[in-house]
Amino acid sequence: MSEEDKTQNSGTTAVQGNDQAVSANQPEKALKSDALAPTGEVEAVNRELQEKATLRKAKEMNIPYVNIAKTPLNPDYLKAVEFEDAKRGRLIPFFKVGKKLRIATDDPNRPETKAVIADLQNNDMEVSVNLASTSGIDDALKAYEKSASAYKKVDIVEKVEEGKIQNFAKEIEDLSTLPKKLEELTAEQGLNLLNIGAMKTNASDVHYEPYTDKVEVRFRIDGVLNKVFDLKPEVYKNISNQIKYESKMKLNVYNIPQDGRYTFTFNEKTVAVRVSSIPTPEGESFVCRYLPGGKKQLKFDELGFQGLAYKKLDNASKISQGMILVTGPTGSGKTSTLYSLLSVMNTPQNKVITLEDPVEYAIEGVTQSQIDEKGGYTFTDGLKTLLRQDPDVIMLGEIRDIDTAETASQAALTGHVLLSTLHTNSAIETIPRLINMGLPPFMVAPTLDTVIAQRLVRRVCPDCVKQEPINDSEKKAFEQVMTNLENVNKSAVVPIPEMLPKVTGCDKCSNTGYRGRVAVVEIFNVTSEMKDLILNNSSSIKMIVAARKEGMITMREDGFLKVAQGLTTLEEVYRVTNVSY
Ligand SMILES: [Zn+2]
Repeated sequence: MSEEDKTQNSGTTAVQGNDQAVSANQPEKALKSDALAPTGEVEAVNRELQEKATLRKAKEMNIPYVNIAKTPLNPDYLKAVEFEDAKRGRLIPFFKVGKKLRIATDDPNRPETKAVIADLQNNDMEVSVNLASTSGIDDALKAYEKSASAYKKVDIVEKVEEGKIQNFAKEIEDLSTLPKKLEELTAEQGLNLLNIGAMKTNASDVHYEPYTDKVEVRFRIDGVLNKVFDLKPEVYKNISNQIKYESKMKLNVYNIPQDGRYTFTFNEKTVAVRVSSIPTPEGESFVCRYLPGGKKQLKFDELGFQGLAYKKLDNASKISQGMILVTGPTGSGKTSTLYSLLSVMNTPQNKVITLEDPVEYAIEGVTQSQIDEKGGYTFTDGLKTLLRQDPDVIMLGEIRDIDTAETASQAALTGHVLLSTLHTNSAIETIPRLINMGLPPFMVAPTLDTVIAQRLVRRVCPDCVKQEPINDSEKKAFEQVMTNLENVNKSAVVPIPEMLPKVTGCDKCSNTGYRGRVAVVEIFNVTSEMKDLILNNSSSIKMIVAARKEGMITMREDGFLKVAQGLTTLEEVYRVTNVSY
């Protein structure tokens, strides 16, 4: 099997490759899957005969056959050829990986077809030609043309000047005028207007629900779905095509649910939109979820990394190969730390890609793709696909199983920086966890570079926090921590505070006494001593001793330091950390 064929079978990024394209050697599979419609049976039989004839012809011509009518049109691949050229050359691009492009045509020897192919080759594309039936090409061209306006993608929001945006914004203040406005706009302008509408009303998601004579549009605002207006079916058709195009869904597939994602720019911030489509008897229904965009990337110190921990993370952000893992339970701020690392590593020299489940928010300049475990697009599949794009830095949402762990460590061994998360209680536990998962020590030792464990503690509300004298038991606890730090990391030792923050509560903090959160962290780099310990299957205790020798402060100790700085309370630190060593 050639490399290209393998690619085709394992799918590509968010948009899968197609499984309907078949080589001339295995035609039966494709033909059998041609379901006969209850009406138009004669036509269906004719079509099948035509496909069989085309297949025979392909064999005679010694080129592969493709049943193009059954092949999902992928917007990403279509972009490789302008519609006008596709029409002129009667060819449809249906698979693309890197510079390799597969096209379908009903006559490769037609001069116009040859001319278009020659143009593509002059543009450095490696074109391989598949033979398709004439009616298949006709249908595919029709589907292509139907959404052709969508292919000339212009980012209206980016293009229109600020004043125009304000005008748009004003117009959508009264959402009931939207449907009328949408009738006058192109599909892409229309979707932009809907995006702005969602932003201006702080809608978390927009639902499009088709009925026989109208399409109901509902906005979820503050958790409640509000019906805002109806669209005419013909307007909806354009809008829904645009949504599918922008979110890279297969345009000519209507009868199975699809997931996708697109981004747009609003008030200079990037907003990511997660889209899912569901087929209904009246047409496709869409839910578009607007994800908090343009989120500020926190710097390491803003996240809670201080002193030696900051230095270790900063060093880790400069490596050119190896694995950086952030561990902790759900809601411990792992993703923020990873995103912060990514934004530092996201330089023009570095190609940064992510595989997430789900994509939490958009990062400019980073190729983010979403895992679809249910749909069979796993972290392992995704990682294998993405490695072909030759990234420098890869962020993988989570290492859940041995397959992912193996693929990830191979990536880290072969010149990539790999960032990911793992569920463990402490930083050191990561090593036995990986080994127990099935990753052999000889893989763990050379790949693992830095491990971070973290929890989030709530910050005291600056408007109502009170300082109270430290009591005896608190003082004792502080003394214990400082004695430990004296042995581990002298530079971290601070005087025992005389006053400690205590919460009260006010309007600004909804009477909780807390506002915002900060991470308490522990971090170690895998030194050569640690590598030896891993290779020798040493106990966790020995590893902890080695990490402590390099100055590793535990999450709880870090918490104490943050209490001493007045950032949080001892109660918070005890709540989220336990003493493991
Ligand atoms: Zn307060």
